[in-house]
Amino acid sequence: MTNIPLRNGGPQARIAVIPGDGIGKEVIPVAVKCIQAATAKHRRPIEFVDFDWGADKYLRENVTLPAGAVEMLRDHFDAILFGALGDPRVPSNQHAADILLGLRFKLDLFVNARPTELLHTRYTPLRDVTLDDIRLMVFRENTEGLYVGVGGFYKKDTPDEIAVQEDVNSRKGVERIIRHAFEYARAHNLKRVCMSDKSNAMTYAGNLWQRVFQSVRADYPAIDSRHLFIDTLAMELVREPRQFDVIVTNNLFGDIISDLAAQLAGGLGLAPSGNIHPGRTSLFEPVHGSAPNIAGKGIANPFGAVLTSGLMMEFLGWNDEAHALKNAVKSALNDNCTTPDLGGSHTTAQVSDYLVNHLAKHM
Ligand code: ATP
Repeated sequence: MTNIPLRNGGPQARIAVIPGDGIGKEVIPVAVKCIQAATAKHRRPIEFVDFDWGADKYLRENVTLPAGAVEMLRDHFDAILFGALGDPRVPSNQHAADILLGLRFKLDLFVNARPTELLHTRYTPLRDVTLDDIRLMVFRENTEGLYVGVGGFYKKDTPDEIAVQEDVNSRKGVERIIRHAFEYARAHNLKRVCMSDKSNAMTYAGNLWQRVFQSVRADYPAIDSRHLFIDTLAMELVREPRQFDVIVTNNLFGDIISDLAAQLAGGLGLAPSGNIHPGRTSLFEPVHGSAPNIAGKGIANPFGAVLTSGLMMEFLGWNDEAHALKNAVKSALNDNCTTPDLGGSHTTAQVSDYLVNHLAKHM
């Protein structure tokens, strides 16, 4: 039993598709085709609506996130499938900040979910690990911490300059992310939750995290919960990743530790993520960026986007489809059907055909 509300769980879904810039425009269409193949068998009606928000629109019309966009997404869509933003013609990255951060904050997407699963032993830098050794979920608090932009300069541009960056932690914010980690563990029959902070050095924020953790964990006696300082967690993740099922931590530490975890299973090209508010419209994006250096060459690796779609299916409560998408990627890796970044010689289109055929056969 779980208390995580599903956004949908019903027979149909409406997805806003924002491919964005660079290779986002190449990998997201592959993800959409794969979702269509995965949902065809059970005839789940799924509607995709494309939005062209990104650098081209910004340069052409000076529009980043159009007026009313947040309300429209919130009220009329179940989820957002997002590619990547970033274009050398917009060095300020203003459009990316407005669109992505705007959606994260205005939709209150407080859970950053970053699953890591080793799909083929070829892709881990660790020795002597099996697929079962690396399967974990990192939950990063996504709306508070050091990333809220509270702070300032004093005596700027003088030799006595001081910069202050505040770490904002609300009881409500800390509690909802920790509770989500436990609810996720319970819903997925996972036995271990690790909360990580730096409460020995950052004593005020850390103390709040510790107190909230103690109080929330008491509600989940069947789950083995522990605490590790973030530096210890970094070491332990590399030394013995099989210790971990679910990790929960703050915005900054989560940003770093989830990248470390992703690298254990193959890195950027295989890393999905979700920006979630359980029960509300949430946003799913591959971890990689727009990769302008390879954009338009037809060699972008679509696996991160396809695994991201699997995460989105899970969010919708469509677990068969979520498994099918992951299995399709696993099969492609087993058959060496990969793009050059993963050591293969296939194009994005060839990988796409493989995945769609696999899904058509195995659903
Ligand atoms: P940013 O993250 O700032 O948007 P970026 O896209 O260049 O910029 P990353 O996503 O970190 O940054 O990617 C770094 C490099 O890794 C890319 O330039 C590209 O060469 C490679 N890369 C990333 N994602 C992929 C992918 N899906 N397929 C192939 N190569 C990739």
